[in-house]
Amino acid sequence: MTKHPVQVRFVGSGDAFGSGGRFQACILLHAPGRNGDVLLDCGASSLVALKQQRHDPNQIGLVLVSHLHGDHFGGLPFLILDGQFAHRTRPLHVAGPAGVGERVEAAMEVLFPGSTGVRRRFPVHFHELTDRQPLRFDLEPTELVVIPFEVVHASGAPALGLRVAWQGHTIAYTGDTEWTETLVELAQGPTC
Ligand SMILES: [Zn+2]
Repeated sequence: MTKHPVQVRFVGSGDAFGSGGRFQACILLHAPGRNGDVLLDCGASSLVALKQQRHDPNQIGLVLVSHLHGDHFGGLPFLILDGQFAHRTRPLHVAGPAGVGERVEAAMEVLFPGSTGVRRRFPVHFHELTDRQPLRFDLEPTELVVIPFEVVHASGAPALGLRVAWQGHTIAYTGDTEWTETLVELAQGPTC
């Protein structure tokens, strides 16, 4: 497969508690000159972090969520509402553990009551990831494939490590987990 450059930017590399003054988990995958960026996790501080780095949140086409703790998915209500007020039209895809759509919408209703019922110019599509089942996304002009691997971290739904193949590169990512041999499997391939 043809390789194109992909920038991996650590928008947030901190924990849930702001240790060291760092933003919560949020890794940006950006392919210069290509459409649609990808986020690996979107912690509660991620919209602020993206704007601090002068990255347009409307460029994000896909968010892959490792697990359903607030410091990994809690930024989604803010990202979605920001898109609404910033006249976003690009569809937003969110893929994560079983129940990701319900958890995001519940968070939106707690934080901004009525926000899930508002008509927006862009659709938000939720996709559920299942252990070792590849899921493909048509991110023009190329396809992204994610393979989730269930890891060990209690969060009300399975926690996942993610292997992502995009633009000819493979990236292995974990959110939180205790040690498991699955991490070796996640990291060593084969490529998607
Ligand atoms: Zn966690």
